[in-house]
Amino acid sequence: MSFSTFGLSDEIIRAVTERGYTNPTPIQLQAIPAVLVGCDLMAGAQTGTGKTAGFTLPILHRLSDKSVKGPSSGRPPIRALILVPTRELAAQVEESVREYGKYLKLSSMIMIGGVNINPQITRLKSRVDILVATPGRLLDHVQQKTLDLSQVEILVLDEADRMLDMGFIRDIKKILALLPKQRQNLLFSATFSDEIQSLAGGLLNKPVKIEVARRNATADNVTHIVHPVDRERKRDLLAHLITQHQWSQVLVFTRTKHGANKLAEHLVASGIPSLAIHGNKSQSARTRALAEFKTGSLQVLVATDIAARGIDISELPHVVNFELPNVPEDYVHRIGRTGRAGAEGDAVSLVCVDERKLLTDIERLIKRELSSKVIAGFEPDPRIRAEPIVNGSGGGQRPIRSGLPGLSGHGQRRGQPGSKAPAARIPMAGPVGGRAPALHRSGGRGR
Ligand code: AMP
Repeated sequence: MSFSTFGLSDEIIRAVTERGYTNPTPIQLQAIPAVLVGCDLMAGAQTGTGKTAGFTLPILHRLSDKSVKGPSSGRPPIRALILVPTRELAAQVEESVREYGKYLKLSSMIMIGGVNINPQITRLKSRVDILVATPGRLLDHVQQKTLDLSQVEILVLDEADRMLDMGFIRDIKKILALLPKQRQNLLFSATFSDEIQSLAGGLLNKPVKIEVARRNATADNVTHIVHPVDRERKRDLLAHLITQHQWSQVLVFTRTKHGANKLAEHLVASGIPSLAIHGNKSQSARTRALAEFKTGSLQVLVATDIAARGIDISELPHVVNFELPNVPEDYVHRIGRTGRAGAEGDAVSLVCVDERKLLTDIERLIKRELSSKVIAGFEPDPRIRAEPIVNGSGGGQRPIRSGLPGLSGHGQRRGQPGSKAPAARIPMAGPVGGRAPALHRSGGRGR
C-alpha cells in the first residue's frame, strides 16, 4: 500500500515522496484514515514507529482542505495545537510539520522554554496555523495574554505518558480548559497506565483505538545484550567496545547530568569524540551537540533520559545503557532510539552488581530475559558487593521511591532523594531471576 491511497493532497504526497518514504508504517496505515475522517484517536505507539507523520500528514490535509484563513485583522487563529513533553521533541515535530507541509500554505511555530520569549511573542502576531509547544512555555504565553487558543480545531498530545511522568498533568488540564469544546483530539502514548487511561477518558470522544506494538513491548529488530561489569570499570569497557567495534554513532544513557559530563570527558580523554546533553546545558549547546551527532561528526552523544527524549535520528545503530534506568519503562523509551522504522539496531547495557534489581524489573516489563555476555578482560569481580544506588553516583543510583504517580506542578521533581534503602547484597553472578518490587520515577524537567 502506498501513501497515495489515503487521499492525501498532491502537495503532501510530493513532500512525503521527497522524504524518501515509499510505504506507510503500521501506525500510519491505521492513524491516517482515522484522523482524516475527523475521529478522535488513542494511539499506543512508541517513538520510532513513524507516529509523527501518522498525525502530521492528516492534520496538514485537514487544515489545507478547508479554505485557509489568510492574515486578517486581529490575531489569526491557531488551528492545531501539538503538545509535546520536551524541547527536543518539539523541534523535531515542528521540523516534520514544516517538511511535510512545505508545498502547502500553512505555517507552523515552535514554542519552547529555554529561549527568549520575545521573538515568540513577535512570531505570534503573524499567522500560525499549527503550534508545536511544550506545556510550561505555552502557559507563560497564556499568562502574558500573548496566545489565543480559542479556535483550535485539532489537539495532539504526543508522548502523553512522558508528559504525565514529567509532572505536566496540571498544565495539560489548564491548557485543555483554554480550548474550544468542539475539536478533534489525538493522544499518543508509548504505554497505557491508569493515569493515561483516566486522562484519555476525560479527553477523547469515542476514540479510534490503535496499538501498533504490544504494550510496553520493544522493537523486534533490536538486539539486546547485557555486559556484566564492575561499576568502576564501566567507562573503560565502553571505550573498549566503541573502539573495538568501530561504532560510529553511539547514543549513551546515564542516569545523572553529572555522570553524563564525567563520562563524556572520559571518552574524549580516550580519543573518542563525545559530548553530553542534559538539562543543565543551554538549549543552543544541546541543539548543536544533537546536530553534530546527527551529521556524524560527533561519534558519541551522552544523554540523560529527559534530554534524550524524542531524539529522532533515523537508523541509529547503537544505544548503550551505561547505567540502567531507575524506571523500567525508560528502558523501552531509550531503546526506542534504535532499530527505527525497520532498521536493525543494538541495545547494549553495562550492568554492575548494584543494578541487578533494575535489570530484573526491565526483563519483567519487556517480558523477555536479556542475554548476557561477559567481555574478556572486564570480568566482574565476584567479591564486589552491591551498594545502594545514591543520586548522582557514577556506577549507579539507588532507585528513589516517589510513591503513587501523583500530580505535581511542572518543573517539580517527584520523589526527592532521601529514602536510602539498605544495600542489596546480591552478587552479579548467576542467572537472572527473582522478582523485585516495581520502581517509580524520579526526576522531571521544567519548562
Ligand atoms: P517517529 O516515530 O515519528 O519518531 O519516526 C521515526 C522515524 O521513522 C523518523 O526518522 C521518520 O523520518 C521515519 N519514518 C516515518 N515514516 C516513515 C515511512 N513511512 N517510511 C520510512 N521511514 C519513516
